[in-house]
Amino acid sequence: VCADEIAGQSWIPPHFVSASQFAGQMDILRRFGPVVHLPEVVGQLADGRLDQAAFAITFDDVPACSFVHARPILDRFGIRASFFIATGYVGTGRLFPGDVLRLLRIWPDERARTGLACELARHKRMTIGQLKAALNQAEQAWGDGLPTGVRGTLQPMSWDQVRQLADEGHEIGGHTVDHVVLGWQPTGVREQQIRACLAELETRLARKVLGFAYPNGGPGDFGPTDQATLSDCAVRYAVSTRTASVRDADLLALPRVCIGAAHTAETFALELSGLLDGRRQRQQGWR
Ligand SMILES: [Zn+2]
Repeated sequence: VCADEIAGQSWIPPHFVSASQFAGQMDILRRFGPVVHLPEVVGQLADGRLDQAAFAITFDDVPACSFVHARPILDRFGIRASFFIATGYVGTGRLFPGDVLRLLRIWPDERARTGLACELARHKRMTIGQLKAALNQAEQAWGDGLPTGVRGTLQPMSWDQVRQLADEGHEIGGHTVDHVVLGWQPTGVREQQIRACLAELETRLARKVLGFAYPNGGPGDFGPTDQATLSDCAVRYAVSTRTASVRDADLLALPRVCIGAAHTAETFALELSGLLDGRRQRQQGWR
C-alpha cells in the first residue's frame, strides 16, 4: 500500500494499491462479510467449521510503505492482518529482487544494467550467492541515482516496525530469509531458508510463528518437501498465490486472491466472488 501521490508511477509494483484504494477495498470487504484473523480461524479451517464467507488480509515481503499507509487504515477498520516477512531483508534498506528487476527495466541506460536485468529475469534458478551478487551489482550501478522516494517506498520494514505490528495484534509470519523461490532450490537450502526465518522471527518477537507464505507461491514454487519442514516446525498454515476457495484446501497450501493497482472497486468485488478463480488458475499456470 503506497501513498496516493505516487500511485500509478512506472516504478510502483503492479501489486501495490494506493492508500485510498486500500481504504475503499476494506470498506467493500466489511460489507461483504466478516474480516477474520488467520491464526484465529486456522482451527476452524482445519475442521471445516468456517461455514460463512469470510475474508483475511495478508501482505508479503513487506515494504515500509505498507507500514506507513496500510497500518492506519487497518486500525481505522479494526482489522488485524497477517504480514509475511523475509527476515534477511528487514532493516537492510535492500530492495526485493522483483523490484530491482523492474527498476532495471525502467532505467536500463547502461549496457551493464540491461545485462543484469537479463540475468535477474532468471532469479528463481540462481543460487542464493548469485542472487545476492546480482542484487549488489544493481545497487552499485544505481549508487545514489534512484529518483527520490523510490527507496523510501520500496525498502523493507525495520525490526522496530515489525515488532510494532506484532504488538498491535497483527500476525507476523515467515517468508524465507532471502526471499528465494523454494521449489527451485536444493533440498538443504529450502529447509535452511524456512528454519532460519522462523527461528529469527521467534527470537525477535518472543512468540511462536504459526503462518508462512511461499515466495512467489505459484506452480512449482513450493512442494511437499517445504510442507514437511513447516509441519516439523509446528507451522499451522501456509499460503500460496493460487486463486481458489479455501474450502477443502490443504492448510499448508491455502489459496489467496492477489489484489493490485489494476483492480477497480467492481473487479475487486468480482474477484472476491470466486467467479474469476478458474480464469486466474489458467493465467497462473495451475491448470
Ligand atoms: Zn514475496
